[in-house]
Amino acid sequence: MTQTITVIRGDGIGPEIMDATLHVLDAMNLGLQYEFADAGLVALEKHGELLPQATMDSIRKNRIALKSPLTTPVGEGFSSINVELRKRFDLYANVRPAKSFPNTKSRFPSGVDLITVRENTEGAYIGEGQALSEDGEVATLTQKITRRGSERIVRYAFELARKTGRKKVTVVHKANILKSTSGLFLKTARAVATEYPDIECNEMIVDNTCMQLVMRPEQFDIIVTTNLFGDIISDLCAGLVGGLGLAPGANIGTDAAIFEAVHGTAPDIAGQGKANPCALLLGAAQMLDHLGMPEKATKLREAIIATLEAKDNLTPDLGGTGTTQSFAEAIAKRATA
Ligand code: ATP
Ligand code: MG
Repeated sequence: MTQTITVIRGDGIGPEIMDATLHVLDAMNLGLQYEFADAGLVALEKHGELLPQATMDSIRKNRIALKSPLTTPVGEGFSSINVELRKRFDLYANVRPAKSFPNTKSRFPSGVDLITVRENTEGAYIGEGQALSEDGEVATLTQKITRRGSERIVRYAFELARKTGRKKVTVVHKANILKSTSGLFLKTARAVATEYPDIECNEMIVDNTCMQLVMRPEQFDIIVTTNLFGDIISDLCAGLVGGLGLAPGANIGTDAAIFEAVHGTAPDIAGQGKANPCALLLGAAQMLDHLGMPEKATKLREAIIATLEAKDNLTPDLGGTGTTQSFAEAIAKRATA
């Protein structure tokens, strides 16, 4: 089977970590074909647009994109290209795994293996109805939650649990205070949960969730929540297990899915071969899961773990003296062994 994916090499450290990632994927012989497309600063310079139509068409056709971080220059029409992509493709699920990895400077070098599933299209986060009174004394914002939006994200979380063999979904909310919005989310989640008797479901209020995550993160498996809570919780989870260099994310819709690293373009180290490619590689692993290649995804994750364990060519952020490319080569060797 050949699968064509859209590849966006991006800005800053983007091209380096993408080359490293494709090196590993190529070595694994997955039958992937790449269609390269531009976005971000590179696209603005080459085509005069941050998000060219050809790039949109490529993603629409292939339905899968692997994307490096992008620079959104201020004053170029979009607040963020990433947010724009989410809107245009209705990428309603933001899926961020957080897993403990060996030899990383983190609070939890073992024991954490969870996924945050964040609703990506509604709630307070999208800033609908923002207004400031004329005298500047009163600010307002509309928080809209829909049954449809809640149902599809919760269903996504339960389906993901089934697909990946996970056992529990925790519904995170604030329905005791935000009775209308968070209340509707919780009520909808309870109804969806009854369709998945094979998956344990529990409910947790968001403030308690934050405390529990810091004290006993091993109790979590899949967390599903609304947009703003998910934004905060997924960063908290990345922090638990070693931060930016190891945090991947996926933005998933009905017609397209985009896989990426959570970190930005890191201009301070761009072009120096110092960038850690793991976050994008882990994003690629999520992509392989999504493409129905779970054994390959597992193989890739295990190769990353083994390379970290062996401290083989780790990049400077992990305390090593390897380069982006030599680290990737060390991972590729294990992924094909
Ligand atoms: P952007 O504006 O694109 O978000 P940024 O300056 O905020 O860029 P981030 O990418 O968010 O940069 O990174 C913050 C810090 O983490 C930087 O010092 C950067 O060097 C470091 N960092 C980020 N990603 C990586 C990586 N993959 N490997 C090593 N260091 C990284
Ligand atoms: Mg940043």
